[in-house]
Amino acid sequence: MDPHGLTQHQELPLKAEPSSQLVLLDLQAQDATLLQLAHRRSSLPELAQLKELGTKAAELDSQRVAALTKVQDLTRAQKKADHEVEQVKARRQRDEERMASGAISSPKDLANMQHELTALERRIGTLEDEEIEIMEQLEEAQTALDAITADLDALKTDIAHAEAARDAALTAIEEQSVLATAARGTLVAEVPDDLLALYDKLRAQYGSGAAALQARRCEGCRLELNSADLRDIAAQPIDDVVRCPECSRILVRTAESGL
Ligand SMILES: [Zn+2]
Repeated sequence: MDPHGLTQHQELPLKAEPSSQLVLLDLQAQDATLLQLAHRRSSLPELAQLKELGTKAAELDSQRVAALTKVQDLTRAQKKADHEVEQVKARRQRDEERMASGAISSPKDLANMQHELTALERRIGTLEDEEIEIMEQLEEAQTALDAITADLDALKTDIAHAEAARDAALTAIEEQSVLATAARGTLVAEVPDDLLALYDKLRAQYGSGAAALQARRCEGCRLELNSADLRDIAAQPIDDVVRCPECSRILVRTAESGL
């Protein structure tokens, strides 16, 4: 026999009007609704979805930062290469102007100058090839950055939708919770304090505090009571608060109890 069961309470049974005991069943229904709502609130599919989307967004954002850094580095490299080409071209122009001015008359100096111009021409070619390569890399990096940014924008839209769906679901749950809480408050006012205290204590302990005795079965633990227990319960005054011998919940007798 359960130590919290019927036997222990037979000596000093709590008394309550049958109508008050019946209110416990309505109270239990509201408490069950509130429990379900709390469960729905914490297990919304949108919450798992948002967590997953958040992880993806964080990954994409670090990819975006890396791609952006690459674009910035290559932009700097391209400007540097461009500047180098311009410098060498300026020097070539100066040399060409000096040669054209006739200021250099020594054949040796002219030969040196011609030699330098050839070298500058080669250098310009090399630098321009390097610059083209950098520009190609930059274009590639920019394309990659654009793609990541587009993915991230799409993801942000998905997140906004999931957040809106979550908020709508939470609002609906909140509205139902407010109704159930109000209904609970009305019912609580109809239950004597000592009965309510026992109910709340059992509810904290077992998840629910009261159950109907329905066709010889406790609706709390779903177990059928044996004949001896049923006889004991039937023998108790109708204003005795009885307990399920199996689950210890307050067992409320109804017209359909099968006693
Ligand atoms: Zn039970």
